[in-house]
Amino acid sequence: MNFLKTKTIEEEEYENYFNGLYDEYSSYDDNFEFDEISPQEVKRPGESASLKRKRSDKQKERAKRNSSYKCEYDPDHETFLNEKGDNFIECHHLIPLSNQDDFDYSIDVFANIVCLCPLCHRIIHHAAMKTKKNLIKKLYEKRKEFLRDAGVYIDFEDLLKYYK
Ligand SMILES: [Zn+2]
Ligand SMILES: [Zn+2]
Repeated sequence: MNFLKTKTIEEEEYENYFNGLYDEYSSYDDNFEFDEISPQEVKRPGESASLKRKRSDKQKERAKRNSSYKCEYDPDHETFLNEKGDNFIECHHLIPLSNQDDFDYSIDVFANIVCLCPLCHRIIHHAAMKTKKNLIKKLYEKRKEFLRDAGVYIDFEDLLKYYK
C-alpha cells in the first residue's frame, strides 16, 4: 500500500470541514474551564500540570469529535474501533508545544490540535523529512487560518523547522 499517496480532499469537503470547525467553535458551550470571549488564548505559564492536562484532554476530545474520528491527513485511513465504538485516532499538536516561547498567544489551543491515525502520527514524529513533509503541508494548509484566528502566526517553512 502506498500510504503517502494522498487522495486529495475535494474543495467542498474542505469548506465543510472549516465551516464545521467555526460552527463548532462558536456554538460550543460544554463546561469549558476557560473563557471563550475570543479564540485567542492567553499563555498560562503558571498553570498547574494537572489543570493543564485536564484542559488539554478536553480539547483533545473536542478535536476528535470535530474530526468525526477520522485521520485529518486522509479520512480513509481506518484503524480500529475503540470501546466507545469510535474509529481510534490520536491527537497531535501541529506546532509542538515546546515552542510556546516563540508565540505571543497560547499554542495549547484547539486550533493547533490535529487528529491522525496512529500510522500518520508515527510518520509525523519519526519519518524522514522528505516523507513527512507532505503530511505536514496538508495539515498546515488546513489549519493556518484557524491558527491565525487564535493569534498564532506561522509560515510553513518555520513550521518545518520544528520538525527537523
Ligand atoms: Zn504527536
Ligand atoms: Zn492517517
